[in-house]
Amino acid sequence: MGGTFDPIHYGHLVAAEMARTEFLLEKVIFIPTGTPPHKDRIVTSASLRYEMVKRSITDNPFFDISDYEITKEGPSYTVETLRYLRKEYSNHELYFITGTDALKEILFWREAEEILTLTQFIGASRPGFDASDFLNTIQQNHPEIRGKIHGFEVPALAISSTDIRQRIENGQSVRYLLPEPVRLFIEELKLYHERS
Ligand code: ATP
Ligand code: MG
Repeated sequence: MGGTFDPIHYGHLVAAEMARTEFLLEKVIFIPTGTPPHKDRIVTSASLRYEMVKRSITDNPFFDISDYEITKEGPSYTVETLRYLRKEYSNHELYFITGTDALKEILFWREAEEILTLTQFIGASRPGFDASDFLNTIQQNHPEIRGKIHGFEVPALAISSTDIRQRIENGQSVRYLLPEPVRLFIEELKLYHERS
């Protein structure tokens, strides 16, 4: 599961856990992006985002984290990460977990065709982002990839990192939107408190 995770929250964790159990995945690897090519705002340093993901997964033995994207030079492109994972896990099937907002974009990602030879996709429902038109179009018009893109329903959590950052900046509570160790880490370092 790739993402900016700025910061990680329960929307990410529920999507990951439900994908794991629904699709019988051996484990879920969280891969925080290094320099995201598609984000136009300044994101929190990769090492702090990595640290927050790490703190939020310690209690789940099936969750793991990779620093592949944050330690490599230059912008992160999913296709390169998948080539790396394909080699690293040569005997495994790969599934890329996204929310339905990201799922609808995948055909526009760099080397989308190649990506779909490397992995399948699991798109977890996300409030406000209905992917049924997208999934229907794939079903009807793209027989070559329809077996590789799976939508599924997760308990709806209308949580986003953007909203969490905003709340912190406004002095509002974010308790119960993200794991407590992450909330305390943010408090301790006063992340997101100042308007940049
Ligand atoms: P931002 O608001 O900064 O874009 P975000 O909450 O969308 O943050 P990302 O790091 O951009 O989080 O998302 C990583 C992945 O997690 C994406 O595939 C996204 O669709 C998915 N995701 C994020 N929040 C949810 C949620 N509440 N429910 C389901 N999927 C989610
Ligand atoms: Mg997002």
